[in-house]
Amino acid sequence: MTSPFQDLCSQTLFDAVPEAMLLIDKSGYVVLTNSAARQLLGYSEKEIIGLEVEALMPRQYHEHHRHYRNAFNENPEQRNMGTGAVLDVLCQDGKVLKVDIGLTPVRMTDQKFTLASIRVADRRRQAEEALRTSEERLRLSKQAANLAVFDFGPNYIIKHWDEKMSVLWGAEAESELSDKQFLTVIHPDDRHAREYALNSATDPAGKGKYKIEYRVIEPATGAERWVIALGRVFFKNGVASRLIGVARDITERKLLSKKLQQYRNETESLLAQQVAAQTASAIAHELNQPLAAISAYGEVALHAFENDSIDETTIKHALESCIEQAHRAGKSLHELIAFLQKGDLIKEQFNLNDLVKEAVNIARGDDYGHFTPELQIEENLATVIGNKIQIQKILVNLLRNAIEAVRTINTASPPITITVRNNSEIKMVHVTVKDKGPGLNADIAQRVFEPFFTTKPTGVGMGLAISRALTEANGGKMWLDPSDGTGAAFHFTLPLAS
Ligand code: ADP
Repeated sequence: MTSPFQDLCSQTLFDAVPEAMLLIDKSGYVVLTNSAARQLLGYSEKEIIGLEVEALMPRQYHEHHRHYRNAFNENPEQRNMGTGAVLDVLCQDGKVLKVDIGLTPVRMTDQKFTLASIRVADRRRQAEEALRTSEERLRLSKQAANLAVFDFGPNYIIKHWDEKMSVLWGAEAESELSDKQFLTVIHPDDRHAREYALNSATDPAGKGKYKIEYRVIEPATGAERWVIALGRVFFKNGVASRLIGVARDITERKLLSKKLQQYRNETESLLAQQVAAQTASAIAHELNQPLAAISAYGEVALHAFENDSIDETTIKHALESCIEQAHRAGKSLHELIAFLQKGDLIKEQFNLNDLVKEAVNIARGDDYGHFTPELQIEENLATVIGNKIQIQKILVNLLRNAIEAVRTINTASPPITITVRNNSEIKMVHVTVKDKGPGLNADIAQRVFEPFFTTKPTGVGMGLAISRALTEANGGKMWLDPSDGTGAAFHFTLPLAS
């Protein structure tokens, strides 16, 4: 069948239109279609030409549509069918599509036609609606959680950076930030830690999780602000291609925990002074009596010599009594120590990885300086048993020593490796704290665990002695790797819970 329209406009031109189009004559028959329409409805040209238009809609609309068609022919004007509502069209295979239909009256060679253009509404509307809803949800949750959003492409080029992020970086909300500006605002001491976190997250062998806390310095005022950034890395062909994440200002929390730590340190040192004073008075109390007796017997012996009447029995008795009193003093001291050491240790079962992370945070937050912790922890770590507070103290002591050691060789943000692994052979968990400081020579290495041994101008020399005693009280062992000139490695073990 030759359509009259083909006289005026070529089929090729009609086919080039991406929208599905049908030309319908006054009696309601399809006289021309373009390829987009045939593709959408699943008809060949031969099948669709000459069809009554109602055949292209579900049966329940047929009657109504005939009335509608007549009404349109009487008053033809360009409009949307169904005043913009979503309509159903029936495909050749019986599938119903949700569509928008636009109607345009066309007059050619004295004949009237209707041009119907069909757009799939369903997918577009639903997608638009879903997008709107999810954008709104994201906006609300960002607002509620005070979150900023960032999106980096390959090589960490900024792809998207929301207003909140600019504000965190000390820029105007609507200003664009360059990749260089982004980096220069990060505190120099924290750049290495950030790089390390980024490298771990983008390692294809890892889990792609990015988490780091660092400081940004507001360019205009120099004010310091703590930020936590959490993100997820996406990989393409085994290479990190995108990092999407959120950031939040945690300055207040940081200041609070710093104050808390200062307070804890002050309390600890006050307590230590009190314990020292009490221990000294207990020792004085125990030694007073025997010392007074030794002095009295000494005087008797001296008196016997001075009087020229050397009475051997008196002198012998006086000296024997001195020895006896000295033994008594020793015994009292042992009893006192035994008394001080008694007291049941509260032990519990826990995951040492968590405690290591806590200790790292304490060491980072308490003004001991900044360092880059490199955690090499075994994910399936067996549960250990011990006194959590004491073990935390051991870890913090070792970390502080490591930080102080590395600081002597002027490293801005020294990396310190903390390894935690199972040692199933000895049924222990093995922890190593390794630094890249100056290490220890053989003489010092032999003495580090002695009480009051220190090489630091303001050191007390009790940290390692206490740490080793606490490790042993918890059923483990502590030792030092002989220095190989590249730093020190302190090890300790703790028993498994089972
Ligand atoms: P303090 O830190 O008060 O000196 P410690 O008992 O913790 O007491 O340490 C004793 C000594 O061991 C230190 O003075 C130092 O000489 C040495 N030491 C401890 N840890 C390290 C380390 N990581 N690197 C080099 N030397 C260390």
